[in-house]
Amino acid sequence: MNPGFSGAAPAEQTTFGLFPAIRKSRVEILQFNIGRLCNQACHHCHVDSSPKRSGPEDNASPLLIDQVLELLRREPALHTLDITGGAPEMNSSFTRLVMGARALGRQVLVRHNLTVQELDGQENLVSFFAEQQVVLFCSLPCYLEDNVDEQRGNGVFEASIRGLQRLNAAGFGVENSGLELHLVYNPQGPVLPPPQAALQEDYKRELAARFDIHFHQLLAITNQPIHRFRSALERRGQLDEYAALLRENFNPLTLNALMCRNAVSLRWDGKLFDCDFNLVSDLPLRDARGLEMQLGMLLEPGGVQRLAQLSIAVDQHCFACTAGCGSSCGGTLTG
Ligand code: SF4
Ligand code: SF4
Repeated sequence: MNPGFSGAAPAEQTTFGLFPAIRKSRVEILQFNIGRLCNQACHHCHVDSSPKRSGPEDNASPLLIDQVLELLRREPALHTLDITGGAPEMNSSFTRLVMGARALGRQVLVRHNLTVQELDGQENLVSFFAEQQVVLFCSLPCYLEDNVDEQRGNGVFEASIRGLQRLNAAGFGVENSGLELHLVYNPQGPVLPPPQAALQEDYKRELAARFDIHFHQLLAITNQPIHRFRSALERRGQLDEYAALLRENFNPLTLNALMCRNAVSLRWDGKLFDCDFNLVSDLPLRDARGLEMQLGMLLEPGGVQRLAQLSIAVDQHCFACTAGCGSSCGGTLTG
């Protein structure tokens, strides 16, 4: 269990402050963290990504990409491939992965940081996204420049706006274009996100008025108290207070919708996890025998089906997913 969470009364619905036991349901989504290499190094990054993470120990190999495509070929139950990183576009096998999954008829989601569009060699990225009809999820923690640059680095806001304008010009976020563009918000500090629907209205109004930018949905995500964000909380002496806030706002209505129930996360080294947060916390998914799971186990006949009913590895950081309206890679879980 993670240390450092103390000082608050446990939520009524849980036992002694422990997160309730939960199990996987039918798994339909493969989330693939393709690596930690990123052109940014944001303060809140739960993956500890940065431009320095370029080595093979932090990034998926071409062989692993082959195995993922083979898994998708064998397992039609996995209808969605959700590609994340780092900046996944920086992996040299990224386009092959996307094209392979689309050719197999899978929906492909990409967690896209917008600024990667401006790297050398990425000039055709937006047209590639449009050709392949990927669904884009792009981080923009505020519509105000100072707040974004404080969290994500100097110049990130302006580059993100340019990136969104390029995407709009290609049809992403445009009504009836069929090209989905969603934005992702996370709070600046140790607080819960405001209600997603009201925040979406603000974003739509302000981004349209200021920059003529349009998008489909805004997803509000709660910061997980792990890695870089956790270190920042520790430095400011706010970790216990934030952990207590998450526990006190435990909402049992979120439990059935948790993303770890119908998804499995694959790390760049071939290990399997319940979600991207467990993945970076090295909290492995275990099979019914208690063995740590690897991608190869899903390639065995019935491997994906056997994920259903496995215990989900939970810990104190899970309270970030169940606080208030709940939180997932798809945004709010209730309300
Ligand atoms: S862009 Fe995303 S992956 Fe890259 S450092 Fe920022 S939060 Fe992490
Ligand atoms: S962090 Fe959230 S998604 Fe991951 S296992 Fe815990 S509750 Fe599930």
